[in-house]
Amino acid sequence: MDSAQNHSLPSQIHIVTSSTCSEFTHLLQSLRQSTVVGLDAEWKPRRSSQPNSSPFPSVTLLQVACRFEAQPSDGGPKSEVFLVDLLRVPLGEVYQPLKEMFESESILKLGFRFKQDLVYLSHTFSTQGCEHGFGMVAPFLDIANIYNCLKNHNSAKSSSKDTKSLSTICEELLGISLSKELQCSDWSSRPLSEEQIQYAAADAFYLLEIFSIYQQYILTEGKCGSSVSEIDDDHSNMMQSILSYFGDKIVLKESDKVPKNTKKKVKQRQCINVNGKERAEISTEWQGPAPWDPSIGGDGFPKFLCDVMIEGLAKHLRCVGIDAALPSSKKPDPRELLNQAYKEKRVLLTRDIKLLRYQYLAENQVYKVKSLLKNDQLLEVIETFKLSISEDKLMSRCTKCNGSFIQKPLTIEEAVQASKGFQIIPSCLFDKNLEFWKCTSCHQLYWEGTQYRHAVDKFVSICKLKD
Ligand SMILES: [Zn+2]
Repeated sequence: MDSAQNHSLPSQIHIVTSSTCSEFTHLLQSLRQSTVVGLDAEWKPRRSSQPNSSPFPSVTLLQVACRFEAQPSDGGPKSEVFLVDLLRVPLGEVYQPLKEMFESESILKLGFRFKQDLVYLSHTFSTQGCEHGFGMVAPFLDIANIYNCLKNHNSAKSSSKDTKSLSTICEELLGISLSKELQCSDWSSRPLSEEQIQYAAADAFYLLEIFSIYQQYILTEGKCGSSVSEIDDDHSNMMQSILSYFGDKIVLKESDKVPKNTKKKVKQRQCINVNGKERAEISTEWQGPAPWDPSIGGDGFPKFLCDVMIEGLAKHLRCVGIDAALPSSKKPDPRELLNQAYKEKRVLLTRDIKLLRYQYLAENQVYKVKSLLKNDQLLEVIETFKLSISEDKLMSRCTKCNGSFIQKPLTIEEAVQASKGFQIIPSCLFDKNLEFWKCTSCHQLYWEGTQYRHAVDKFVSICKLKD
């Protein structure tokens, strides 16, 4: 893997503070000439205790990292990083150029779970007179998908539940560790500190670096999922191929532009700012509705994200057939956790009351589990969210990875074949005529042996299914 030095930030970071400064002209020029743009945004965590507070936080800083293709004789591709200070630049002046870049077919946009950023960005612009804000970013590539592709050597459009945090991805692919401390710093205070400037620039710039590794990978290894021959090493053709195979887009629907929860219960749960200086009461009662609630356009299928402290609860929920994910990274910070919950439309289950303080999310997205033991926690969650659990749903999900099972059971012959070099099936099972089930995500095999019966009995009892 490349050393960290090869991926250092450009020495000059352009801070755009007005529409008359030379940096602004430079930004417009760069947007026109870019082939790839890395995007990120920062905002101030919202405090719902403020009267008439807006439904979404205001984006205060937009980071735009531009890459231009230059001839190898000029030293190869060049990058410029801009921090657009949205508190200072008149939004009307920067709206059209940004919108054009977002929608330009010839500029590939890179982001890391950028939809939430776009929702907030769109809200920020539209509430300041810029028509309807932003409705689309296309073509777009999510760095999380690129990472999955590089790591798994398969489809770039793999499911988001395996997604790592951006800092983990940077560390693995670039050998760079990104500081997370500034994520929740005050992005509305000016001037920005030097650390904030470096942090903000890095978040956008490293998207370009990761994409370069991906381009190299495609050149040398052939592209993910399809035949190598269709990839041309000519740059523009390669970009076309990448876009046609993996290009995605973000489209905001009207429902994305309104907050998920319109219930007037905010008052009970006042926010404490990130520094924890203010004291306010936080309600730990579940307010609802959950993101999956059909009354707010959900699909009716409960989905949870369990904080690392309650991993055991996640496994228990899977055992009773409920979709329960774990954080994408091992030591996620609050914003990562909440982002993941938001993106995947999950309710975050936690024992950490501090997480209830982050009010920049819709409030129906965090629940503090009160019980200490996992059996009690399971029952508490079932009752709080009125989950319907039935015996036929028990053991219907992979406890290892939260994946779902194949549609039809395997025979012993098929199971032995599927387990080769991966899992050992005890030979004592061979003459028992058991059904084998395979996880569609991690390929773990399960069978309905004695352990299975015991587990079913246990959960029938915990969930009081026989009452
Ligand atoms: Zn699995």
